[in-house]
Amino acid sequence: MQRHSSRIELSLKALQNNLDFIRSKVGDDPVISSVVKANAYGHGIEQFVPMAEECGIRHFAVASSFEAEEVLSARTTDADIMIMGILYPEDLPWVIRQQIEYFVYDFHRLERSVEVAKEVGQKAHIHLELETGGNRTGMEQDKLAETIDHIKEHTEHLELEGVCTHFAGIESLSNQFRIQQQKQLFDQMCQQITGAGLYPNRRHTACSAAVLAFPETVMDMVRVGTAQYGLWPSPDIYNLHLIQKHKTTDRTLQQVLSWKTNIMHLKEISEGEYIGYGTAYQAQRDMLVAVVPLGYGNGYARSQSNKGEVIIRGQKAPIVGSINMNVFMVDVTDIEDVKIRDEVVLIGKQGEQSISIRSFTEVTDAINNEFVSRLPTAIPRTVVS
Ligand SMILES: *Cc1c(COP(=O)(O)O)cnc(C)c1O
Repeated sequence: MQRHSSRIELSLKALQNNLDFIRSKVGDDPVISSVVKANAYGHGIEQFVPMAEECGIRHFAVASSFEAEEVLSARTTDADIMIMGILYPEDLPWVIRQQIEYFVYDFHRLERSVEVAKEVGQKAHIHLELETGGNRTGMEQDKLAETIDHIKEHTEHLELEGVCTHFAGIESLSNQFRIQQQKQLFDQMCQQITGAGLYPNRRHTACSAAVLAFPETVMDMVRVGTAQYGLWPSPDIYNLHLIQKHKTTDRTLQQVLSWKTNIMHLKEISEGEYIGYGTAYQAQRDMLVAVVPLGYGNGYARSQSNKGEVIIRGQKAPIVGSINMNVFMVDVTDIEDVKIRDEVVLIGKQGEQSISIRSFTEVTDAINNEFVSRLPTAIPRTVVS
C-alpha cells in the first residue's frame, strides 16, 4: 500500500489508563459500554475495538446498523453490540439474527421486533429508551402502559436487555435543573415498569460527563464515549472532577490519539514576500518555512490559518498563511537543523512539547468530539503501546 500524507497513532496505554479511571469512578459492577459511533470518534473502529477488548471491554455501542456491522467484523471476542440510533426496518432481520441489541423508542418498532423475531426464530434483544425530556428519541410516558403490556405478552420473542435514557447536556452546569427532572422522570417510569412485573436486565443513563461527575446517574451499565478517548466533556466536568478527586483517584484522562506527518519541503523566504495563496501572511523577516503535506481536505481545519501550531524537533512551529486543501506552511526559522522528512506532530507529544485536542479545538471553535469524529477514515491508524 502506498503512503498516505499523514498517520494516526492510538495509545493502548492511554486507553487502559482511561478505562481504569472510569472503572474507579463507577465501581466494580456496572458494565462499561464502549461507545464507538462515528468510527470510534474518529479513532477507527477497526483498530479501536480490538484495543478496547484487550482492555477488558465486552460491550460496544454504535449509532447505526452499518456501524454495528463494522464492530462485528472488528471484534475479536463475543462482545455485545448495541445500536442506539437509526435502524432501518430492512436491517431488522439481520440485527436480530446477529443477536445485536438495539434501542426501541416507538411502539411501531416494538411491534415489528416481535414480528421479525418470530420470522427469524430468535429473540430480539431490546433496550427500551424512555423519553425523559431530551426530546430526541424515547418512548413517551403515555405509551408506557401499552408498551409494558406488549413486552410482557411477547417475552417469548423479546429479551428486555435494558431500560435507558440519555441526558440532554449533562456536561454543562447550566443544564442541571433539566437533568434532575430527567432523572426523576426516569426513576418514576422505571418504577412503573418494575411495578408491572417487568424486569429489565440493566438500567442505564450515564454518558461520559455523568460518569465523571454525577455518581447518582450510574446504574447497571454506563455508555462511555468521550472519556475513554481521553477527552474531558467540558471544563465544567473537569472542575467537578477536581472537587471530587480526593474521593476517588489521582489518575486523570490521557489522550489516546496522536496525529503525525513529515516535512514535505523547505523554502527560504525573503522579507516582504507572501506565503501561499493571497496575502494571508507576509514575511516580516527572512524566513525558513516548512511545507506540511495535509490540509482541510484531511480534516485539518481551515480556521487554523495563521493561528495554530505544530511540533517539529521538540519545538512549536506556528502556522503561517492559510490552510490549503492538501498543504500548509509553518515557520521553522528558529528551529535548528530542520530537514525534509522530519516528523511533524499535529496532535500529540514530541519531546517536552505537546498539542492537545483541546488546544487544537480552542483555536478552531469546534467541540472536541466534532473534530475527532470528522477525521477522515482514509488516514491510516496504528496501535502503539
Ligand atoms: C453518544 C452517546 C453516548 C456517549 O456520550 P459521551 O458523552 O461521548 O460519553 C451515550 N449515550 C448515547 C445515547 C449517545 O448517543
